[in-house]
Amino acid sequence: MATAQFQTPELKPYPVVPLVAEGTMAHSKPYVASAAIQSAVGFPGELTEGWEQRAIAKMGELLGKYRSLEVYLDACVHCGACSDKCHYFLGTGDPKNMPVARQDLMRQVYRRYFTFAGKHFPKLVGAVDLTKDVLDDWWVYYNQCSECRRCSVFCPYGIDTAEITMAAREVMDSVGMGQKYSNEIIGKLHKIGNNLGLPGPALENTLQGLEEDVKDDTGVDVRYPLDVKGAEVLLVTPSADFFAEPHVESLIGYGKVFHAAGISWTLSSKASEAGNFGLFIGNYEHLRRIALRVREAALELGVKRIVVGECGHAWRVAYSFWNTLVGIGAGGNDPFAIQLQSQLDPRHKQPTHICELTWDLIQRGVLKFDKEKNDDRIITFHDSCNVARASRMGDEPGGQFTIPRNIIKAVANHFHEMAPETICESTYCCGGGGGLLSDEVIEIRVKGALPRMEALKAVVDRHGVNFMACICAICKAQFTKVLPYYGFDMGVIGGVHQLVSRAIRLGEPN
Ligand code: SF4
Ligand code: SF4
Repeated sequence: MATAQFQTPELKPYPVVPLVAEGTMAHSKPYVASAAIQSAVGFPGELTEGWEQRAIAKMGELLGKYRSLEVYLDACVHCGACSDKCHYFLGTGDPKNMPVARQDLMRQVYRRYFTFAGKHFPKLVGAVDLTKDVLDDWWVYYNQCSECRRCSVFCPYGIDTAEITMAAREVMDSVGMGQKYSNEIIGKLHKIGNNLGLPGPALENTLQGLEEDVKDDTGVDVRYPLDVKGAEVLLVTPSADFFAEPHVESLIGYGKVFHAAGISWTLSSKASEAGNFGLFIGNYEHLRRIALRVREAALELGVKRIVVGECGHAWRVAYSFWNTLVGIGAGGNDPFAIQLQSQLDPRHKQPTHICELTWDLIQRGVLKFDKEKNDDRIITFHDSCNVARASRMGDEPGGQFTIPRNIIKAVANHFHEMAPETICESTYCCGGGGGLLSDEVIEIRVKGALPRMEALKAVVDRHGVNFMACICAICKAQFTKVLPYYGFDMGVIGGVHQLVSRAIRLGEPN
């Protein structure tokens, strides 16, 4: 059992809205990025004189650029429908973790500087000056939001707290208060090409090792190719897939799918990362620069198809942003985007999720499985928040829910759903998304995982579930860490293609 400096919440047999505990998470904050980390990603190194004016100017710029932000700040009627919908409130009882209260931290400042009433009668409309104390509150509570969008599902106006959080982080970055975890990773990605800072030769070695392991295990030469010009598919996957457990098991599975289907594919040392933390800090320029690596790699390698591995926020970026940001799929109209669009095969969705590819092959009878190889696993599925509420798969509404489940049922015999109010569009975030996957905020991560852990415990008790599949690298890393706090084995979490990998028939050993 993991040890911690805080009390892990008790798992109850049914969800209980906690009593409000004012300020109970006020001490939880991420490390502030150093001046070197900040300047490497183009932000000021620290808070300097005049930051208040600069922050308000930045807020004005964002309000001018993003109409949605202004609408969200204006539209809330404080009905309270969202107040008990955030996993961080349910796990902590801190009232500032209610989505409406989190929004209000920015709304109060917005009213003061951008509305007539707030400028002239601030007390009447709850408007406040942007002081250092207010900024400190932003730092604490906008870093306790994983941008999962669950609250927006329940808001009658569809107010998206995630967008407000992104704007707040963008404002804080612009005055020198950046988050060390996210900004350091963005810097590494720009410099080396992936979140882990894994250089090309190390990646090549890792993939060779993987080929040897799979050969030992199956007797079959399954390839994990890198930088192969003329391959049909470019696979872009989170860098954790290259070495972390259980992530690598899914990478092994992708390779087996391509092998069994006879599809030529490659990874790229240039686009060796699907993750895009530009999303977490709400910065579209970083979002674009990071995504551009994928376009460059696709053009250089001459591929016909771009496929994304198991990563929740990466799929959100790929599905919702790649088209207009860099022209992967329809959208971009600069010369490189046009060149790429004429290169990619229009018979396929661009980009394609690995689950879409695998499910299509299963439906066409291309892949065969020995389902009983997964008989020791009693499986449930955790919908990752970014896939569930910010993307889609396939041609039918809700394909992002049905396709991963269809794959699981095609490769395994024992599957049980968790409670309906905790899955699909109502799914709970794992607790570590949105740039919160760092150790100094482990308390909020553990407490934020409570609703998912309660739903998991219910199916463990009722059906003996021993494996929770998901399609997100952050969910895998987060649950590996927090499952033991709740008395579960860390091996309970794994990938959908980890299950595929075990059951797939590869043909005769060489
Ligand atoms: S963590 Fe999710 S549910 Fe909570 S406020 Fe942020 S977007 Fe809403
Ligand atoms: S549900 Fe929507 S309108 Fe109601 S308090 Fe929450 S954000 Fe405001």
